[in-house]
Order: sequence, then C-alpha cells, then structure tokens
Amino acid sequence: MTILLFRLDPYIREVDATVTRAEDSFVVLDRTCFFPQGGGQAGDTGEISGSKIVNTLSDGEEVRHITEGTAPFTSGQLVHGAIDWQRRYRMMRLHSASHIVYYVMQEVFGERCKPASSGMMDDVKDRSDYLFDEPLDRGKLAMVEDRVNHLIASGMPITHSLEPGSEERLLWAVTPFPPMACGGTHVRNTAEIGRVSLKRGSKPGKGRERIELTLA
Ligand SMILES: [Zn+2]
Repeated sequence: MTILLFRLDPYIREVDATVTRAEDSFVVLDRTCFFPQGGGQAGDTGEISGSKIVNTLSDGEEVRHITEGTAPFTSGQLVHGAIDWQRRYRMMRLHSASHIVYYVMQEVFGERCKPASSGMMDDVKDRSDYLFDEPLDRGKLAMVEDRVNHLIASGMPITHSLEPGSEERLLWAVTPFPPMACGGTHVRNTAEIGRVSLKRGSKPGKGRERIELTLA
C-alpha cells in the first residue's frame, strides 16, 4: 500500500521514498506525492531519480508511476521524486474553481442542473457536463462566470478534512457552500485560482450541456 502524501497536503512537490515494486513500464513506491488519475483529474507527471514519469495511475491500493521507457528501478532502492509542479498547480486551481462553478450553476440554472458525469480535467481546461432540460441561456452562463469570479476574488479559505467517522473520505469546503466529498487536489485559498472563464462546449448529448472552464 502506498502512502498518499497529497491527500492532506497537496502542496508537497517532492518525495524521498523506497521502491516497493518495479516493472518494465512503471514503478511503485512506499509513499508518493504523485496524484494518480481519477475522479476526472489527470495523473501527475514529473521525474523520479532521473527517469521521466509520463503519467500516474492507481490500481487498487497501488500507485503506478508510468515511466517513459523501461523503468530502471529495483525493489528496495531509495529514490527521489518530483512532480511537474507548474502543471499540477494549474490543475489544483482549475479543480478548485470547478467545484465553485458546480454550486453556482445550481444557484443560477436551478437545482435540476446536476452534473451528468464526473468531468475531465487536465492542466488546460476542465470539462463538466450538466443535465439541462432546456437550451443553455448564454446570458445566464455569463452570470455564473461573474459570480464565480466574484467569489474567487473574495479570498475565501478552502479546507479539506476527513469526514467525521471516516478514515477514508475527504471533505472539501469553502464558505458559503456545504462541504463536498472529494479526494482531488485543491488550493488553500480561492484567491490562488485567479480569474476564470466559462464557455459552452460541444453538446455531449440530449438533455446535457458541456461547460468548459479555463484559467483566464
Ligand atoms: Zn475536488
């Protein structure tokens, strides 16, 4: 089992660790700060002791750091890993913003406007699909963008903590919204996000609309 350092401190960029398993195309460590692809968030990239890491995936309780070529590691080896922090930090900002968008979408479009999937996010944009029973009103989408940017600029602290009574589930929270269960990586304060833009993406299917979120 790999210790997941990003769960309670997503700002950890580097790690000293021991190789617990080495295969041709990936390496597993006893602890990691690399976020594995999941919940719509792309896996981290970076470098482990001179080898380029092109993706991070999870398989059960194991986190696999995918190497560019053959992984030159042996079990028991001490290694140093560093994530591509610029890329990850952009994802932390986008991911945090996407939660605020989620709440404001329901304020502006009504409670029936629920997420239709877990979304897809990399360091360039977040794409989230919402249930819509009428055509998307672009004026209202502009209202969502304004309100989201206003909330972000107010510099609210973002907290994440274990759900009471649970050893596993993490709760994400920012005032004035109720907490949400999420194991992804977030920034500590909305002010770190900066301005964002929202636009309507290509229609993902009947009764749905795709909203694309980018850092402005
Ligand atoms: Zn989240």
